[in-house]
Amino acid sequence: MITFMMAVMMLVSGAAALEEAMGHAQQVKNPYYSRTDTTKLNVPDSEWKKILPAQVYAVAREKDTERAFTGQYWDSEGIGTYYCAVCGNKLFRSDSKFASSCGWPSFFESSRPDAVTYHDDTSYGMNRIEVLCGRCGSHLGHLFDDGPQPTGKRYCMNSIVLEFVPDSTIGR
Ligand SMILES: [Zn+2]
Repeated sequence: MITFMMAVMMLVSGAAALEEAMGHAQQVKNPYYSRTDTTKLNVPDSEWKKILPAQVYAVAREKDTERAFTGQYWDSEGIGTYYCAVCGNKLFRSDSKFASSCGWPSFFESSRPDAVTYHDDTSYGMNRIEVLCGRCGSHLGHLFDDGPQPTGKRYCMNSIVLEFVPDSTIGR
């Protein structure tokens, strides 16, 4: 009987861990999340730490980078919209996504000019442009000049801070 109970408990905690890893858990208890409200947020990291899954927090607030070819979206081709996984801000449309061999989801333009903000990043001895969410200020990735036309830009993003919503789900 004890072993049966332990097995049940392991199953339950396994499901919770999976849900956490899939990024669904934070939407339930994240009071700042909105796909329509574009008001800028000024939420301290101590608050985000309570709300976000650890892996999302590490990238979004501590500027960590997910390993190449490990994210959910690097080679996805669905038609729809990519939102900020932290606050729900609309960031990219799938028609600006292009196949890149770098191992991270790559876009040539944001969905609107103020969807993201930019910051000079000289960490690790490199001169890069950091891309941040225009609403919550979370780290999303970096901007490079080797993208395709019409912009020639490559927004090199971390999958874990993006949330893809296919067009086919709208209106359901
Ligand atoms: Zn955001």
